[in-house]
Order: sequence, then C-alpha cells, then structure tokens
Amino acid sequence: MPTTLGREIVRSKLPDKYKHYADKVLDKKTTTELMTALAKEDPDAYVDILQDLNNFGQSVVSTYGRDAALPFKDFRVSTEIRHLSEKMKAIVDNVLNDDSLTDAQKEDKIKALGYKYTQKIEDAVFADNDRRQTALASQIKSGSRGKKVQLRQMLFGNMLVKDALNRDIPYLGIEAYANGVSPTAYWVSASSGRKGYYDVQAATGQAGYLGKRVTAATHDTIISEFDCGTKDTGVPFPANSIKNIGAVLLKPFHKHQPGEIVTPQMVAEADDDEMMVLRSPMTCKSSNGVCAMCNGLDESGKFPGVGEYVSMNAARSFVEPLTQSGISSKHVGGVGGKKVEDPEGEDQPTGFRSIERMFTTPSNFPGAAVLAPQDGTITEIRPAPQGGTYVTVGNKTLYCSPYRTMKVKVGDQVYAGDVLTNGVPNPMEVVALKGLGAGRVYFMNKLNDILKAGGAGTDRRNLESFTRAILNKVEITNPDGYEDYLPGDIVNYSTVMADYEPREDSVELPVEQASNKYLEKPVLYYSVGTRITPEVANELKKYDFNKVLVNDNAPSFAAKFMRPAEGLQHDRNWLPRLSGERLREGLFDAARQGITDAYDSPSYVDRIVIEPLKPKTSM
Ligand SMILES: [Zn+2]
Repeated sequence: MPTTLGREIVRSKLPDKYKHYADKVLDKKTTTELMTALAKEDPDAYVDILQDLNNFGQSVVSTYGRDAALPFKDFRVSTEIRHLSEKMKAIVDNVLNDDSLTDAQKEDKIKALGYKYTQKIEDAVFADNDRRQTALASQIKSGSRGKKVQLRQMLFGNMLVKDALNRDIPYLGIEAYANGVSPTAYWVSASSGRKGYYDVQAATGQAGYLGKRVTAATHDTIISEFDCGTKDTGVPFPANSIKNIGAVLLKPFHKHQPGEIVTPQMVAEADDDEMMVLRSPMTCKSSNGVCAMCNGLDESGKFPGVGEYVSMNAARSFVEPLTQSGISSKHVGGVGGKKVEDPEGEDQPTGFRSIERMFTTPSNFPGAAVLAPQDGTITEIRPAPQGGTYVTVGNKTLYCSPYRTMKVKVGDQVYAGDVLTNGVPNPMEVVALKGLGAGRVYFMNKLNDILKAGGAGTDRRNLESFTRAILNKVEITNPDGYEDYLPGDIVNYSTVMADYEPREDSVELPVEQASNKYLEKPVLYYSVGTRITPEVANELKKYDFNKVLVNDNAPSFAAKFMRPAEGLQHDRNWLPRLSGERLREGLFDAARQGITDAYDSPSYVDRIVIEPLKPKTSM
C-alpha cells in the first residue's frame, strides 16, 4: 500500500501496538476503535497521545491554511445535485398544479413526498460529495463535525420542517442554503429554527436539574447485606435476554437450581417464549437497602460489597446520557422528513420530555393512557361533542382526548388500573391502582423503553436497582395510624416490611379462592396490600405460586409514587432532608414528628456531613 507523509507522521505518534491503525482510513468508526482501545489498554498514555495528535492536526491546519480548511468550491452545488433539485421541483409543481386535488389533499401529498424522498436525497447528496472527496464529506465521515442532514440542507434544501408544536409543515424546502433561500422558505423554516435554538438552550439546564433530583432519590439505597434470604419474591423476565446474565435464579430453570447465577450458556439454552424468574433489587426483602444476591453480579463479574451505592451508580448510568441526549437530539430539532407514527398517539412527547414525565409524573401527564379507576364493566363508549370519546366504567365516566384510541369495547370487564386506551400509563396512577410491586415492574419496563427511544438507554439491571430506590414509599391510610405513624405519614415500604407481622385474621388460600382479597405477604413481585384480581391470580399461577396469605381488608398503608424531589422530604432521618427541596416543609415536618437522627443513616448525605466531624484517630 503506498503511504503518504501524513500517514507516516500519524504512525510515528502511535505506540507500536496501535501503529497498524495508521494503515486504515481513520473514519469515525476506526477512530473510535483506536481511542477505545487506547483508553482501555493504555489509560495513562491516552491523554498524551490524543493531545499529540490534536497538536499535529492544528499545526497542519495553520500551516496549510485554506488547503486543509473548507475551500469555497465545496459550497458550490454540483451539477448532479442541481439536476436532482430540478427533478424534485417538477414533482412538487405537478402536485401544486393538479386542479383535481383540494388544498388539503395537496398538503398531504407534499408531506408524503417529503417522507418518501428526504432520506434518499440526503444519501445522494452525501454520495456525490464523497465521490468528489469534498472537505465537508470527509469531515462528516471522520465524525469530527457535522451530519449528513446538514450537508443536505446546505447543498439541497430543508425539505420538510416541523413547526414549534412538532407538526410537519406542508412545504418542501428545495433551495440550498449555499444558493440563498427565498423569503417563503425562510419564513417556513423560521419557527423550527427558533424551536431548535430554544430547545438547545433549555435542555442542558433541565436535563441537569432532573439528573440531580433523580440521583438524590437513591441517596440511602446501599448494598446492605449479602443475602436477604428471599425464597418467594422475584421478577419473571424473558429467559433469552442477555440482560439476565449475572442475576440469581429464584425459581429453577431447566436443570439449574434456585440460587444459581445466570450464565450466558443458560440464556443460550432458553426458548423464545420461555421466562426466567430472577431475584431482583425490586423484590429484595432487605430492610435497609438491597442485598448482594438480589442485586446480582456487577459489571466486574462479582457481587457488590456491603455499603456500595449501587442504585446511585445505576442512576448515573442514564443521567449522563440523558443530559447528552437532551442536548444532541435538539440539535436536529425541527428537522422533518420522517413520518412518525407512534402507536401510543400523535401527542406523545419525544426526547427529553418523554423521559422527564416518567419522574415528574404530572397529573396532566403528556400522552397519558386512560386507566380504569375501578373494577367494572364498560357500559358505554360515545363520541364527545368537543372531540374525543367518553367511556363509562361502572358508574364512572371518563373523557379520552382525540389522540386516544379505545382498547376496550362495551361489555368488557375491566379492573382498576387496566389500560382502556393507547398512550403511556402515568406511573403514579399505576402504583396507586395496582400496588407498589406491579407499579415497580411497570415503571422499570416503561422507563427502559423510553430511555432507549430517547437515546439514553442503560442496562435493564441498572433500572431494576434504580426503581427499587425511587419506588419505595407507602402512605399510612389507617385513620388510627400504624405503629408510631400517623395517618398521612409517608414511610419507606421496606422499613414497614422489616418487622411486618401478618394480621391475625389473615388466611392462606389457594390463589383462585383469594379473589378480591389483599396480599398479606409479598409474593413474586407483588407487594403487601396488592388486591388479587384475575390478572394477579393468573400471573401467580403461571409461575407456580399457588397459595397466598391474604386478608379481607387492605393493610394500614397504601403504595405511593413519590416524585424524586419529594422523597427526601419524607426521609426517616432529618439530616438527609437537607439535600432535598422544600426544606421548610421537610424540616418542620421532622420537628413535628420529633424525628431524632442517630446519624447512622446509610445516606450519602450523612456520610458527607458526619465523616469530617468524627475525631481523627492517630496512629
Ligand atoms: Zn435480597
């Protein structure tokens, strides 16, 4: 292979082990490979090598000036692209001049053209530049700067753009920025440009703030012991998921026994529709955190040590990318061209907004599914005069917005918390209607999907650990209070469970005879107080939990979804409350309850405040 001076200089700057990289084209993929290998294998040399390469790049640019930077000719629209542009204009003119179409039909056709051609044009523009080896194409290829979409905008045009409400505007921008745009094209793109600009400015702060609250919510969830000893609580997951590796079996799987750690081989021997019931932080019985066995192996392949803040690390694993995705997804904000058909409805928020709602759970939850507020039969579904639909469950009538499509029909029997329409169920409602256990599993799965879609995906087991920390509160509902708590007090579910004695009138029954009674002992992923509906009964029987301890009455507390910032206000010690929000309420409430603090909370807040105050022991 013929070499060049540049190639040899790059080679000279790489350690022997990596010199062969100089023979490759250092595009985005290969450069990333090289950097990753360096960072992993030679972390000490990493910074120096990068700095050296960077200096080299800068000296080339300053020595060669225009030859190495963007030459003006790269901004000229090539003959190929001009032909492409003329063809596109002709197609659009055909639609606009077709007298058989109404205005609305023309708008739909224009949008359809945008969905059909935008990507093809983008690829063609890039291919043309790549063939001519323009500086812009090589910049994009190297991954250093710019995206194909920007190249297309510069040399071809905007095509479809979105308005400030994320709707596609029925106008195809076929004017290259490089040639200057018409007032119409400018006007059309102005609103999306403004939206994109605002979003970038706003997203950084919002994502940072959310990340801070979310991380704080995990403040006291540590690895508390090696094994909580649970034999009957766990979560079923598809057995062929590689995410199961490192977790501990609750139920036997094939010839593998409870307590065994899931290996890649076990996952490989699973059939497509098989499930594995695993121990999970979400169902750990430890009172003061999570046990190592329920947590499973960490990324180093070992059980985490007692005292480790696994949930906080889990939160960090998606908070970082969340902040990044908040910023980067907005960079292309306002660019249309792909038809987005969300089965959950056109009103689904995207990107950061879609994720944020899972934590802030506003009562006006964006894109919310309508849930059955109680058990009953669907007696009526009728159109609402203002648009949308009314649906009646038993004696309650609910309004469903025009974005919702019904998933039930008249005569269907539904249970509290069942989904009646498309959309995303508000986790706060799910927890209140289906109980803490089912709410946790729902929240974890949905958060998993939404983070992935929003570009901030993380390992499922991280989310199990995080969900345990954030969804662990109950509200005392018994008018007489419970133990030392008053009605309305918010308490950790795990704290209540630590010394929970089943009530005397509880009975053990076969699942099918326990209908409508309340669980008195946690089983599978269901928490104490879960009402046995047919759905719960089927799920329990499916995993071979055939007997349950139940009570006719709900317990003295009910599951409560606490927003991340609010959870700290209800901490059982007053010191951690200092790191939450609404300090006045939190501290007054601590004074009212006479909360004392033994300063032994596992919370990192305690560690930060107390550790420096401890007398130094001299050697
Ligand atoms: Zn456990």
